[in-house]
Amino acid sequence: MVESKEFLKSILDTISKHIVVIDEKGDIQFVNRSWQTFGDENNCQCNTPWEDQNYLAICKSAAQQGDEFGAQALSGISQVINQQLTEYYLEYPCHSNTDKRWFLMRAVPFEHASKRFIVISHINITERKIAEQQVRELARIDGLTQIANRRHFDDFYEQEWSRCARLKHPLSLAMIDLDNFKSLNDNFGHLVGDICLKEVAKLLPDYTRRPGDLCARYGGEEFAVLLPGTTLVQAKLIAERLRKRISHMAVEVDGQKIEVTASLGVACYPSPGVEAMSDLLKTADKALYEAKETGRNKVVSA
Ligand code: GH3
Ligand code: MG
Ligand code: MG
Repeated sequence: MVESKEFLKSILDTISKHIVVIDEKGDIQFVNRSWQTFGDENNCQCNTPWEDQNYLAICKSAAQQGDEFGAQALSGISQVINQQLTEYYLEYPCHSNTDKRWFLMRAVPFEHASKRFIVISHINITERKIAEQQVRELARIDGLTQIANRRHFDDFYEQEWSRCARLKHPLSLAMIDLDNFKSLNDNFGHLVGDICLKEVAKLLPDYTRRPGDLCARYGGEEFAVLLPGTTLVQAKLIAERLRKRISHMAVEVDGQKIEVTASLGVACYPSPGVEAMSDLLKTADKALYEAKETGRNKVVSA
């Protein structure tokens, strides 16, 4: 029997999952080598052998220090112990000073000699989490210009609109449309047009440096700059600087200098006629239309 216990323990020690077995009170009965090593490497041992500690008490202490995952683990494992749940899963971050790490915890009960025990395993899911984050990031970025895309802009706009409306902060928006871009494509080719779009996109982040600011490719040869906490007067100044910068932009292809200009429409919430979320976009668009109608390469504000 002793031999078979040693044999099974040796097997559990080869497993990369961190495994701990607790009884119904949460007292730790067994930990495998991966658990021990992880604990040692992360200084969570505090000199007491694992087998003398209570897992629920550890979760509780983490929860009391404000760790929401500690609170969730405590509640989930308690429900497995009380047979309210047949098993429990929890994905949680466990970052070190140098690395981002995520784990998946699973708690499953079993019976032995008429007593209930819970096996809690932790598996490192960092690779999957990073891949998921990258996919999410990619879905928000415009492939050509590498700035935020329309989808991201729409989400962000809604969020900032609500925030500014609630806090009674101004929210300014500049819509930017490149001038005569169809002719530029016709004269120099679509690839040169793409280069120009990329060059314009590279300038925009210089004008959206504050945390709530966002620049995005709104579609085609149109860009949007969202400036929370910025008044119309300030936004007009920013738009004017951006317009100048675009018109001085030196796009050179095969030794040939290509002129790019943009027209900008600026609007601000709150202002007359800008009450609902869609009003700001409509008003900036109207101002942009006026900039086009009255000569292009200019800023018009509502
Ligand atoms: P306006 O000054 O009135 O804005 O004239 P415009 O020619 O810029 O406007 P119009 O809407 O007639 O044409 C937009 C052009 O932008 C046509 C389209 O081919 C071009 N365009 C849109 N997206 C891209 C893109 O991703 N790459 C390139 N190269 N061109 C694009
Ligand atoms: Mg356009
Ligand atoms: Mg255009």
